[in-house]
Amino acid sequence: MFKKILVANRGEIALRIQRACRELGIKAVMVYSEADREAKYVKLAEEAVCIGPAASSLSYLNMPAIISAAEVTDAEAIHPGYGFLSENADFAERVEKSGFQFIGPTPESIRIMGDKVSAKQAMIRAGVPCVPGSEGELPDDAVQIRRIAKTVGYPVIIKAAGGGGGRGMRVVHTEAALVNAVQMTKAEAAAAFGNPAVYMEKFLQNPRHVEIQIIADKFKNAVYLGERDCSMQRRHQKVLEESPAPGINRKLIERIGERCVAACKKIGYRGAGTFEFLYENGEFYFIEMNTRVQVEHPVTEMVTGVDIVKTQIMVAAGEKLPFTQRDIVVRGHAIECRVNAEDPYKFTPSPGRVTMWHAPGGPGVRVDSHVYTNYFVPPNYDSMVGKIIVHGDTRDQAMARMRTALAETVVEGINTNIPLHRELMVDAKFMAGGTNIHYLEHWLEQHKR
Ligand code: ADP
Repeated sequence: MFKKILVANRGEIALRIQRACRELGIKAVMVYSEADREAKYVKLAEEAVCIGPAASSLSYLNMPAIISAAEVTDAEAIHPGYGFLSENADFAERVEKSGFQFIGPTPESIRIMGDKVSAKQAMIRAGVPCVPGSEGELPDDAVQIRRIAKTVGYPVIIKAAGGGGGRGMRVVHTEAALVNAVQMTKAEAAAAFGNPAVYMEKFLQNPRHVEIQIIADKFKNAVYLGERDCSMQRRHQKVLEESPAPGINRKLIERIGERCVAACKKIGYRGAGTFEFLYENGEFYFIEMNTRVQVEHPVTEMVTGVDIVKTQIMVAAGEKLPFTQRDIVVRGHAIECRVNAEDPYKFTPSPGRVTMWHAPGGPGVRVDSHVYTNYFVPPNYDSMVGKIIVHGDTRDQAMARMRTALAETVVEGINTNIPLHRELMVDAKFMAGGTNIHYLEHWLEQHKR
């Protein structure tokens, strides 16, 4: 096992990784920008290195600064967390070339899965069902583009191969709008992602977002850890997540989980990863794979009892997975609410001094957050300041626990989206379960203030 790991991230995930290291008896070296000097995990750290000024491009995205921090502290491995450099194949390569273990998949796996066209092709080869669409990148020829769209059937969605974060997508309803939409998406993709390649998919009207968590070791053992329903989204960004996905037949989940595991073995995947699917009318359609730990991993940890971050570290160190598929049992129900420093209805960011932070507790309640009373939320990063996760024997019990937890939570000095979560936890349709990816946007439209 490693003796020392460098945590190349910030915020709640940096604290989460630090906690996993402590449990494993590993020293965690924390890095921080000048804006994060006061963060809880920096204060708790045995060792911490300042890697630059507040701007992420000069700190958390600064590869030489991070690698030299690992060098000067004698770390053996680097955990990238999520966001920042976690899905950057060049970074993974530089980490390994500098003699450190990257806690994640190989640079090749990141590269294949980072390009949505090559990811889809790999999934088709591995027998994972995908959204019907173009076979790979769209050609330039207008006649051919129209022919492909006719075969796929309108409405279609044009997506950037290098896209991410809900950007680089355009829905097209008619043939008249098609070619222009393709050209515009290409131009945007070239500017935003440095890659003009686009592809076409059938635009599914009312799907749910359901994803499968997998974890694999270096010996081609892979296991799926059930699913998460992340359909509650605003602007393609997840707001709350749960596991299991309400009302989906377990046999169907097993079948898709087994396909994901087979795909991992086929591509020689190692580490944690998520296969994202759209689910509509009883069918799963692959959309993309995330080659890292995800924000919403705790709901899976709560229902399976598997510590995903610890397991990531163990498999990166060359250990075999400590469990097989037969050991994985999904128990009860878990829900996660992302706590964002923002106006709950206008969504404008609300950084600043937290004058009071009181986290909830009680049976089945978990809070992952680096915030404390008097902490200053810097304006430079993502607005998520923590996550409240609950577990119950049933979905109803989990929702009741979440209502209690949200009622107990006190955050003063900044705005948060907790009032929105409180309303969603008593919303009749959400409580019934199975709302689709458009539900929250429609709800917000109707509850405008
Ligand atoms: P990103 O990498 O930017 O997150 P994804 O491919 O994961 O992009 O898609 C993000 C979201 O966009 C999905 O969760 C879904 O809400 C919507 N979406 C993507 N593809 C389709 C499709 N074919 N039909 C309908 N909605 C889609």
